[in-house]
Amino acid sequence: MNTLEYNLKYAVSMANYIHGKIKYEEQLIPIDLEDILKYRQDITVVKQDLLGLDGFSMHDRDSKKYVVAIDNVNFDLTRQRFTLAHELGHVFLKHHTKNKNLNAYIKEKSADAFAGELLMPKDIMYKTAKFLANYILNAYEISYTAYEMRRRFLNKMYDFDNVIENEKILTFEDVIEYTKHSSLLNKYNLEKV
Ligand SMILES: [Zn+2]
Repeated sequence: MNTLEYNLKYAVSMANYIHGKIKYEEQLIPIDLEDILKYRQDITVVKQDLLGLDGFSMHDRDSKKYVVAIDNVNFDLTRQRFTLAHELGHVFLKHHTKNKNLNAYIKEKSADAFAGELLMPKDIMYKTAKFLANYILNAYEISYTAYEMRRRFLNKMYDFDNVIENEKILTFEDVIEYTKHSSLLNKYNLEKV
């Protein structure tokens, strides 16, 4: 395994580790990044016009705190969401501290891999793979570009398209179980129709 592959796999396992740490309802899609931030009081998110720069993150060595800035003026919400997840990748993968000497390309690709796995967990992606793009984009609250990039990544790393051929085809009702809609249905004890 080369350095890039190693770091991509590490990024994916870090996102899985976070999924494992948050509550069950929080693991359902769409993932709410606030649910992760509330466990990390050392990260402050600032949303402002960055004049078309998606976002960035910084670490203060003295206070050991992070600031993540997101452009909330020039990009739509799904892109802002992916950008925030990407910047959280830099934080969780310690790109400002322990791993700051990694090369820039590997850092960026790893942060993307982290964001992809965080917002579009591989296991759920297999189950939604056969649904229409419109449904999928809404279910994960992601952009079409992010979804396409994610599929390409999964194909390269995990032979995604061949695996989904072997997966059981889930019904719409089955897939609901993996979404935050399911807790709403349970709360009101509604019949799924
Ligand atoms: Zn980055």
